[in-house]
Amino acid sequence: MTKDGTITTRKITDEEAQACASESIHVIGSIQPHGFQFVLDPETFTIVQHSENTIELINQYLKQRTPFPEAYPILHTSIFDWLALADNDVLTKLVHNQTNKIDLAEHSIISSSCWECVAHLAQGWPSLEFIPTSEEISSSVRLISQMHGLVDVMRSAETEQGLFETITRQFQQYTRFDRVMMYRFLPDWSGEVISEAVSDQEEIKFIGLRFPSADIPQQARDLYAKNKVRVFANVDAEPSRLTPAKLPNGQPLDQSYTLLRNMSDMHRMYLKNMGVKATLTLSILVKGKLWGLVVFHNNTPKTPPNHVVAELKLTCDLFSEILSSYLIPSIEMIDLTHLVAAKECIEHTFNEAKQQLITQSVFELSLKTIQQVLKYDYIGIVSGDYCYVLANGEFKELGEATISAINTLFDGVDEHHYKSHTLHAKHEPIPGLMEMVGIYVRRSTVPSDFCVFFGKNEVVKSIKWGGVPNTVNIVIKGGERKLEPRSSFALWREHVKGRSDHWESQVGQIMDSFFNCARDFVTVKSNELLLEQLEHSAYFDALTHLANRSFLKSYIDDLNFNPKNPGQKVSVLFIDLDNFKDVNDFMGHETGDRILQTVASRLKACSRPDDLVVRLGGDEFVIVVTHDANIDLISMAEKVVHSVGEPVFDHEYTVVITPSVGVISAFVKDLDFNELLKRADIAMYTAKNKGKNSYHIFDKKDQDAFNKKAILTLDLRKYVSSPEMELHFQPQFNFDKQLTGAEALARWDHPTFGYISPEVFIQVAEMNNLIKPLSMKIIATACKHFVTWRQHKLSAEFDTLSINISPSLLLDKSFEASLLNILNDYRVPPAKVRLEITESIFMQNHELAIAKLQSLRDRGFTISLDDFGTGFSSLNYLWKLPIDEIKIDKSFISNMTQDESLLTMVESIIDLCKKLNLEVVAEGVEDKAEFNILKGLGCDTCQGYYLSKPVPNQEFISQNITHDQST
Ligand code: C2E
Ligand code: CA
Ligand code: CA
Repeated sequence: MTKDGTITTRKITDEEAQACASESIHVIGSIQPHGFQFVLDPETFTIVQHSENTIELINQYLKQRTPFPEAYPILHTSIFDWLALADNDVLTKLVHNQTNKIDLAEHSIISSSCWECVAHLAQGWPSLEFIPTSEEISSSVRLISQMHGLVDVMRSAETEQGLFETITRQFQQYTRFDRVMMYRFLPDWSGEVISEAVSDQEEIKFIGLRFPSADIPQQARDLYAKNKVRVFANVDAEPSRLTPAKLPNGQPLDQSYTLLRNMSDMHRMYLKNMGVKATLTLSILVKGKLWGLVVFHNNTPKTPPNHVVAELKLTCDLFSEILSSYLIPSIEMIDLTHLVAAKECIEHTFNEAKQQLITQSVFELSLKTIQQVLKYDYIGIVSGDYCYVLANGEFKELGEATISAINTLFDGVDEHHYKSHTLHAKHEPIPGLMEMVGIYVRRSTVPSDFCVFFGKNEVVKSIKWGGVPNTVNIVIKGGERKLEPRSSFALWREHVKGRSDHWESQVGQIMDSFFNCARDFVTVKSNELLLEQLEHSAYFDALTHLANRSFLKSYIDDLNFNPKNPGQKVSVLFIDLDNFKDVNDFMGHETGDRILQTVASRLKACSRPDDLVVRLGGDEFVIVVTHDANIDLISMAEKVVHSVGEPVFDHEYTVVITPSVGVISAFVKDLDFNELLKRADIAMYTAKNKGKNSYHIFDKKDQDAFNKKAILTLDLRKYVSSPEMELHFQPQFNFDKQLTGAEALARWDHPTFGYISPEVFIQVAEMNNLIKPLSMKIIATACKHFVTWRQHKLSAEFDTLSINISPSLLLDKSFEASLLNILNDYRVPPAKVRLEITESIFMQNHELAIAKLQSLRDRGFTISLDDFGTGFSSLNYLWKLPIDEIKIDKSFISNMTQDESLLTMVESIIDLCKKLNLEVVAEGVEDKAEFNILKGLGCDTCQGYYLSKPVPNQEFISQNITHDQST
């Protein structure tokens, strides 16, 4: 434990610093004893409070008068008993925060020859202070008379430093204080002695020294800003108390503007420790803010007369004026020029950047350009999950760790700004930016993941402090512990690390500009990206990444309006995939999608780079060829047919998808988008009609055919939904000419076009999604008639009703169920129904077709393979198919009498069928010769005009009715 009377010096703690800062600056209720004070009633001007030293001081300076007794009554006397005033009104004109000089008469008790009087209004109470005039100074050359010269000196000072030194020197010479120092506040409110002048006995010792902000704490600075003059005449003198302690209203006197106000013990101690006995302090305010102080120190007590103080104050005001009108503006002008240049550079750079795509290099270039003007060691932009920084000239892209570290800076501080030049004192270094010790960061709420920052490197500084800063002495006296200001002001050098330079005053404005421009840039760019994506999705097909219909339209529209030359041609290849619906239906959409993608890339490969490949939708594609030279469209179309028709290997499937291609070539100016596409479409349909897997070049005749087909489509829809469906039946016989079955053949007598071949309208139905309703209606009609035949007792051999089934219908998921429903409705057993299918069904999806057929056979249906011998027939795989019957195509039958090889063919088909236990039907038998040959070859069934044409139901019944009706 420290013994009484010992002094320990140590670093001040935060709490102590806080306590120091909140300690009152002056001691209320007393004044310095080198002058005295009267407080008056504002109405009667009688004295309501005065300092206790009044009589003593007056007696001290009294000339040729009897001294007052010690206890001479002062309270309640009129002020006019004490002073003779030239102008009595002067007391009514006092204002609160302004110190007025009151002229005293020579002959009054308080005489002008001894006293100077200053007055102000303290919260409504007139307060008069009396300070003795000093022979010494009043006799010297008046500063005010030198003002002219002084102003010239100040104005002509070439440097700031020169000006400071001049002022300090002049002040010292004028006041003869032992030491005059000019003290300037730094941004952290520590202060630095910037000039110093001393009397002959003294040495310059404080210039360049720093004093910690605690030396002049906040409340002292506030007071300095309010009251520009502060006199401390004798550090050792006991203060004189005011009596009574309170004003008549019960409040203590407000002493903020009291010139004689008493200093706090801490301050008194501080000065004592410095060896100072008297001080005078003048504030220098620039634009209402405390800029610095002029501090006068004397080694002996010293009371500067008030007029001197007033003159000094005036000079200081003038100096402040000069500072604010010359020096500060010139400093500010440099700042302003920098600010304007910085803002211009930032705006310009980001405007330029906006013209470009948002890429890393745009950030790099922009930051580098801006850095050249801003000169910050670090400039960074954080947006979303990227962070671009120019760090000491090096461009970096930083990520998550950096971003979250920057965001933690905002904890508990201002939501939008964080500024520090001692970043490492409070936070961990920022990952990726470890050297950065100063940061000024601003973040936005919208978008919330955006922020920008400037950073500074460490600057190691050597600071000369006037004594070890922020130290206190702990004095133990009488068992009581007391803090006292440090007693040593010896130079103490500190090397300050971990700090950057302070942030300049204009950094806020530069930050605002950078923040706004960068945010604008990032938002505009990300909006653009979004727009681009939107635009892309509006114009491009997501599946194949080809342009879509909208794009095609605007492309053609553009060509229409801006042809390169009047004779510019455009060619369009319209590509539709044959039977693509089946792929989707039976292999699933995923396979379908993959096939479409393959087709898209094949089409791309078939076209030249400047041709446009479009997916119109579904399985329709378009290639637009714009060129002036004649292109070989035919070979291009052939290439497309060939290339798209190549097998596609998709997982376990090998799929062959063939295209039908319509080609149209026209002058750009002649056809608009709709017309061009319509004609290409017609050409494509013509290609389809020719048997698919081919191309067709548009012809005027196609248009008529197409028009007819278009009408048919419309009318077929009506026909399908009409109650009556026409149907013909063609009987089948064995070679004893007994009726064994009948084939139902669809018929449509069109109101305008007349008889339409089922081959035509069945195809129209297939293309228009009408095949299922149409087929179901045919099947139902056939069943309806079939039932009536029984009542009419047709041939005893009559076994089956044959119905043609389109491949797409067979592969339809619900076909079997629908079929069974109809049969059930008419009570027709499946065993009586023979389904005629064609081989093409096995080409599309072999496995599935077999499964479907197998399932139908399991239900009791029999299956007939129609048109056998055409297309892809191969005798080799016949045995693998789940069928019951083969129908030899009529093209074999009608030509076999002329063509030996065909006859051989028919012969071997029949032989094979016998071996495989398949029934054989010959269709299209038109004459007796053919009938006899087939009979000789052992064919089972005969169908053809020779025996009967297809006939309406009524006729079929009457033709085949058995006439021996025994029952
Ligand atoms: P298909 O299944 O091969 O039908 C036989 C075709 O040969 C019928 O033509 C028939 O009238 C015709 N024909 C019969 N005997 C002879 C003959 O001795 N000489 C000649 N030259 N032709 C003969 P149709 O009625 O014009 O039918 C044509 C095609 O339309 C059918 O060929 C079939 O593929 C299709 N079709 C007819 N009705 C339907 C139906 O209800 N559903 C489906 N999916 N297709 C049908
Ligand atoms: Ca048939
Ligand atoms: Ca046939």
